[in-house]
Amino acid sequence: MEQTSLVSGPLMTQLTSWAHLWFSAAVRTDRAIESNWDDDDPMNSIGERDALSLVLIDALRNVERGAQRVLDGDHDALRQFDSDVPSMKSLRDRLEHYDAYLSGEGHAQQSTTAPAAPLGMRFIGSGSRTGGHTIFIHVDEKRGRVKYQLDAQSAVLAARRLMLTTVAAAGMDDAQHRSRCHLCRPDLLDQ
Ligand SMILES: [Zn+2]
Repeated sequence: MEQTSLVSGPLMTQLTSWAHLWFSAAVRTDRAIESNWDDDDPMNSIGERDALSLVLIDALRNVERGAQRVLDGDHDALRQFDSDVPSMKSLRDRLEHYDAYLSGEGHAQQSTTAPAAPLGMRFIGSGSRTGGHTIFIHVDEKRGRVKYQLDAQSAVLAARRLMLTTVAAAGMDDAQHRSRCHLCRPDLLDQ
């Protein structure tokens, strides 16, 4: 099936540029998380890692939002991203509305039959291992306690694939992009 863009002209160029900027933020935040550990100050390292985790999720979700506007809504690359990072949208929505979710008033928590659960969301923490950084957030929802987990390295890789497809769809994957971009070059997809 032929896949076409939803937008065109300067709007498509700007949406792609903004998404690329968000992807840059995601990559740089992920690098900061992966290299932040200080043996002499573990508490500060944990605090910094957890704080940057929230920024990373927001940046990754904004890459997806830009791509959704540029690519056809049914585009294979969007389906692939969804399949690679299934918790992305839910996690970002819960963080965006963290005040409502903490008090049990979040959209996925509201119920006509049961009272809202107190302290309905917990930032369990995040950890870095050889396989990369992982973020854990638990939310009490209508369907029970949902344990969200986001693996930063694989999420950034999935966003890189989506970004490159978006840049190409916008006609911006030219020689200049290939020579200058250190964020979504095709050879980085193998790393
Ligand atoms: Zn790029």
